[in-house]
Amino acid sequence: MSRSRRILACAAAAVSSPPRLPRAPPLPSTSRARLFSPSSLAHEMAEEGRSVGEEEPRGKRPAAELRLFDTRTKAAVPFRPRVEGKVAMYVCGVTPYDYSHVGHARAYVAFDVLFRYLKYLGYEVNYVRNFTDIDDKIIKRANEAGEDALSLSSRFIDEFHRDMYELQCLPPTHEPRVTKHIEQIIDLITKIMDNGKAYTIEGDVYFSVDNFPDYLSLSGRKVDQNRPGTRVAVDARKRNPADFALWKSAKEGEPSWESPWGRGRPGWHIECSAMSAHYLGNIFDIHGGGKDLIFPHHENELAQSQAAYPESEVKCWMHNGFVNKDGQKMAKADKNFFTIRDIISLYHPMALRLFLMRTHYRSDVNHSDTALQFASGRLYYIYQTLHDGEETVSLYGEHKLENSIPADDQKLIEENRSNFLEKMSDDLHTTAALDHLMVPLRAINNNLSDLKAFATKARTPEKETITEAAAAATEKTRRLYPSSGCLAE
Ligand SMILES: [Zn+2]
Repeated sequence: MSRSRRILACAAAAVSSPPRLPRAPPLPSTSRARLFSPSSLAHEMAEEGRSVGEEEPRGKRPAAELRLFDTRTKAAVPFRPRVEGKVAMYVCGVTPYDYSHVGHARAYVAFDVLFRYLKYLGYEVNYVRNFTDIDDKIIKRANEAGEDALSLSSRFIDEFHRDMYELQCLPPTHEPRVTKHIEQIIDLITKIMDNGKAYTIEGDVYFSVDNFPDYLSLSGRKVDQNRPGTRVAVDARKRNPADFALWKSAKEGEPSWESPWGRGRPGWHIECSAMSAHYLGNIFDIHGGGKDLIFPHHENELAQSQAAYPESEVKCWMHNGFVNKDGQKMAKADKNFFTIRDIISLYHPMALRLFLMRTHYRSDVNHSDTALQFASGRLYYIYQTLHDGEETVSLYGEHKLENSIPADDQKLIEENRSNFLEKMSDDLHTTAALDHLMVPLRAINNNLSDLKAFATKARTPEKETITEAAAAATEKTRRLYPSSGCLAE
């Protein structure tokens, strides 16, 4: 079968194949030439947990210093972790009451790119991503289904993990659940109370924004821009409408825990202050999430953490853009969304990942079938080219290739590496980094075409030279690009 026909066949198989869940364990990738099909590609991509940093010598940093955009200072700043060689990173996770949508994929692919790239640069990364496993929406959905709230959230945590696995998002170091950290949450609220920054009303505890002058320092909002009650109805008992709940008193039929203020459950924001401090300390390097979390969630988190422990600090706040459909943010609340499952029943999961990575993480992605089809075609081109390169090299068997790589090819490989690293270090500019990926792929295809032009099947020094060039470009690409996750390891 010709290469173009094989690509079409693979693309057609991907479009018609049902969701591949649960997936069989990954195959070992021992041979250089691999069978190419969507299923073998999926297996090949499923090498979870392998250290990305092993691809290049540890500590071999790119010439360009990593710069990340900090929401608070509104500038791309050189990334200097608090402890040399180690990164402490917290990303707000999902509220698991349903299947995750493409907006979630946007966030977690973006921070997986960061996680992988930091590891590639040689950092030891402590990556924490939480689950809000108790919440109004979970309770409502569980009551409608006649199911226990915690069993419903636990079920959708499993489904979320499957989606992350499909999208090749590496597991974080810790995935804490709110319901397992009630003790830390109560301790933190107690500290905020002791510092006079919160008050109780009939078993509820509220954060007092009037007692915290630095409130809104992250978002830069003015108080009059503040619209309390966008997530919950305004409670007339509050001293200031902008005050927000740290602890909610128990209601009939809802899960609740003992506390100094009576039985109840945590408010939404306090969990991330408590769990980030528990796993990373009061000062840590990176805090991430979707840009819709800047206010109120992250603003409130920062206020709580500093109200309890004034030294609390996040060195860099990072926020990803939305996925838009028809010019509107894709969101469950508006019933204007696709789930990750919807998309990967039609396209290979890595096509979705590639589609998301083709837009810089801080920009909004516009969902369209055309863009997904383009990403799908690009994905198959990438893997087909690498497969063809490896297959050609494998024809030479165990015989050592004795000719050196032509200078032009060597230069191209080195330039591609430095361009890739420069773009990735520029606030994770995956759009440009992915464009650079086409350069070695074109070189591989050109080399393979040149090889085909030879009339003789016998090995000649010239053929060996071309093969060596194809081999080098293939190997280097295979090693470099998994550091962004656009190629599986
Ligand atoms: Zn959070």
